[in-house]
Amino acid sequence: MPTDQVRNYVAGSWVEARASEFTDVLNPATGERLTLVPMGKALDAGAAVEAASRAFSTWRRVPANDRIQPLFKLKALLEEHFEELARTITLECGKTLSESRGEMRRAVENVEMACGIPILMQGYNSEDIASGIDEMMIRQPLGVAAVIAPFNFPAMIPFWFFPYAIACGNTCVIKPSERVPLTMRRVMELVAGTGLPKGVLNLVNGGRDLVDALIDHPSVRSVSFVGSTAVARHVYARAAAAGKRAQCQGGAKNAVVILDDCDLAMSTRIIADSAFGCAGQRCLAASIGVTVGRAKQPFAEAIGEAAARRVTGNGMDEQVEMGPVISSQSRARIEEWIGRGVAEGASLLVDGRNPSIPGGEQGYFIRPTVLAGVDPGGEVAGTEIFGPVFSLTHAETLEEAIALINSGRYGNMACLFTSSGAAAREFRSRVEVGNVGINVGVAAPIASFPFSGWKESFFGDLHGQGRDAVEFFTQQKVVVERWPSAWSRKF
Ligand code: NAD
Repeated sequence: MPTDQVRNYVAGSWVEARASEFTDVLNPATGERLTLVPMGKALDAGAAVEAASRAFSTWRRVPANDRIQPLFKLKALLEEHFEELARTITLECGKTLSESRGEMRRAVENVEMACGIPILMQGYNSEDIASGIDEMMIRQPLGVAAVIAPFNFPAMIPFWFFPYAIACGNTCVIKPSERVPLTMRRVMELVAGTGLPKGVLNLVNGGRDLVDALIDHPSVRSVSFVGSTAVARHVYARAAAAGKRAQCQGGAKNAVVILDDCDLAMSTRIIADSAFGCAGQRCLAASIGVTVGRAKQPFAEAIGEAAARRVTGNGMDEQVEMGPVISSQSRARIEEWIGRGVAEGASLLVDGRNPSIPGGEQGYFIRPTVLAGVDPGGEVAGTEIFGPVFSLTHAETLEEAIALINSGRYGNMACLFTSSGAAAREFRSRVEVGNVGINVGVAAPIASFPFSGWKESFFGDLHGQGRDAVEFFTQQKVVVERWPSAWSRKF
């Protein structure tokens, strides 16, 4: 049994997984091995779900005001260890320190929001729906919630779900991505110091077998998933077939539309940050730019310059503006898509392949890449590349640009850059995506709003965060009451 494996956190204790297979966790900036992650199986899922299930019977009866006290403590601990957590994200995921700090801020925001549960989960009532009869709707927790996360936001994404789940009175099992298990391990070490009762929050490590075992476990009542579309569809179908509540966020191909009345310098800066921030490994990354009318030439030149200027290297260096991609396999896949774009007739305005990064020879680096003249009907224009590759295509009118976006299979985000309120209003109303940015390049909803997503970017009804989270993690019970009494008989 390897001694440096990541352990599971079950019923308040750190335990070894009963796995026989292990995967290396690598620092994407250096290729160095950080630890080993066990590929957990049904026995590990079972132990965690049963611990959560046992804890549920008492946790659900704890008053909401008392349930949020450990969350206040967690917020304080996250602030205290903020920098350390940000560095852990950069170490295992590769993004820059400032991106990791931004991610941590979003994680903390969700804890703050969930502290409002005593008021957020209130029901409603009507007196005298018939003579002497009252009716009320109360919200109750469901039971054990499973949370399954992707690699690209090791901290933030589990926080889209678990603070709300436990504040509403559920108990929870979290499965981080096997590529980035260290951040949530550290979070759970902090959770251990919050006074949260044992078993309310559990952590298990593994890959697809563990995900399936969690979904299949009869005591799991809800599944919150974020990852690629193929897996989101699988998780949604499997959970739904077993009669479970599921919310599954998938992949994306986000378009930004550039009108010729936009502020070119500002728009270019914002779009470059969206396309190349987190090395393009963000579900809200701008992936394809649609220039309209006279914006074509000036924007192509400006974004090409911004791409070529971006400082790429180890995210631990504060001067670096873009880190590596997650793995050598990801890099090979992204490079293949760049080649495919050229084969489809695009020209390489900036080629980021085979970069020379001092000290990063063993890391998984690609510099920002810009493909111009991408065929809007081709494969590159419709496929999620999930790397620092920005494609350019052109439309004669805004109408044509909206039609192009609406013809895609994904619906995560679309953005418009303009100084026209009328164009912005038209775009906002007609574009078929869940998150819209107007002169904003990463339209990420804050914790009090749902993180939306349409079409193949989302399977389910209720999204993560905001009021949707409260709806998702509670079930409604309607009570109709009559209390005959000597007092009421007097009337
Ligand atoms: P992924 O789908 O490979 O993995 C996500 C999770 O699913 C991991 O925990 C993994 O262990 C598990 N998994 C992988 N294959 C599985 C299978 N066959 N069956 C069951 N479980 C399986 O995704 P990733 O590469 O970690 O993350 C990148 C993807 O996530 C991108 O497509 C990105 O757009 C998407 N994403 C979407 C959002 C959103 O809000 N819509 C946010 C972040 C990331």
